[in-house]
Amino acid sequence: MPSAKRDYYEVLGAERSASAEDIKKAYRKLAIKYHPDKNPGDKVAEEKFKELGEAYEVMSDPQKRAAYDQFGHQAFDPRSRSGGGARGSAGGFHDPFDVFREVFGGGRGGDIFESFFGGGNGEGGEPGGPARGSDLRYDMEITLEEAVSGTEKQITIHKPAACETCGGSGAEKGSKRVRCQQCGGRGRVVMSRGIFSIQQTCPKCEGAGEMVEKPCKTCSGDGRLNKAATITLRIPAGVDNGTRLRSNGNGEAGQRGGGTGDLYVVLHVAEHEVFKRDGDDLHCSIPIAFTQAALGAEVDVPTLSGKAQIKIPPGTQSGTTFRLKGRGVKNVQGYGLGDLLVAVAVEVPTKLNSAQRAKLEEFAHLCDDSVHPQGRGFFEKAKGFFS
Ligand SMILES: [Zn+2]
Ligand SMILES: [Zn+2]
Repeated sequence: MPSAKRDYYEVLGAERSASAEDIKKAYRKLAIKYHPDKNPGDKVAEEKFKELGEAYEVMSDPQKRAAYDQFGHQAFDPRSRSGGGARGSAGGFHDPFDVFREVFGGGRGGDIFESFFGGGNGEGGEPGGPARGSDLRYDMEITLEEAVSGTEKQITIHKPAACETCGGSGAEKGSKRVRCQQCGGRGRVVMSRGIFSIQQTCPKCEGAGEMVEKPCKTCSGDGRLNKAATITLRIPAGVDNGTRLRSNGNGEAGQRGGGTGDLYVVLHVAEHEVFKRDGDDLHCSIPIAFTQAALGAEVDVPTLSGKAQIKIPPGTQSGTTFRLKGRGVKNVQGYGLGDLLVAVAVEVPTKLNSAQRAKLEEFAHLCDDSVHPQGRGFFEKAKGFFS
């Protein structure tokens, strides 16, 4: 569906390749120009100022900008949100695939993910803060039809989730957090090796600088427990092989209340028995009889949205491609539709019965070079090679 919103790059007057610094400069310049204080009562300027703020909010955040580059305004379409337990983000915006509900419960399987997208200590900033949970990767196979129309999938994964007894803090009810005695609350210890001294993360508090007086019995003070989580993934129409979706806050819970990681879903589109995909275009090949190719015909062709027809003109050669506009894949960023390209493969008849054979022989006698212009042209060029 086409969006009435202006392109954020256009709003900011910035190139797609603009650096973060360029974006900031462009924003400042226009923000000064359209600022309501400078344009009292000017509705147009007010709208522009709002539009600008919205564009900058996205473009100034590298993750949101990347999502916008990939999915356009759809990435922030509030209609695509189904709410739930996922972590929201500031400013009324949310990440493109922050649309997943997390329901803890039973279920099995889905353990084929690895935690190799970074993880460990997050960007939290303050030294010694509790470790952010790891990001997770989940590989999912979908059909071409699902990739083209979009779909919803439920997956169940086993991952560390916040302990319900202690709410993720790792502390027994009523127990306080106390400063770590080994590092004195710094989260680091200094080791001396000869003339060198090396700073290390404190092994006792694992860098937190503090510890709980009495650890929670359910989770032994870690703040997390392995649980099955059922997550509903909304896969937008137009995704392709290798598309990576992020499900915000559906990674591993952090230790002792540290931030939750994200879940990355990497899509693998299964091969289709009829269609091959090339960007937003689809390709297929259909067999036609040599009489249809010679005489012309109307033939049915399959599309992902039902049957269509193509008109084959008389004298069509094998391999000729017909383009059906708009019968390909809907662009994932909303930039229109691809085409369906149908190549015809002329089938030579086999197992002729005697009547058919007699007619074809009769036909052959009636033919001269003029009905096979390509053959004539070829043999003229190749003449020298026959002598
Ligand atoms: Zn310590
Ligand atoms: Zn606990």
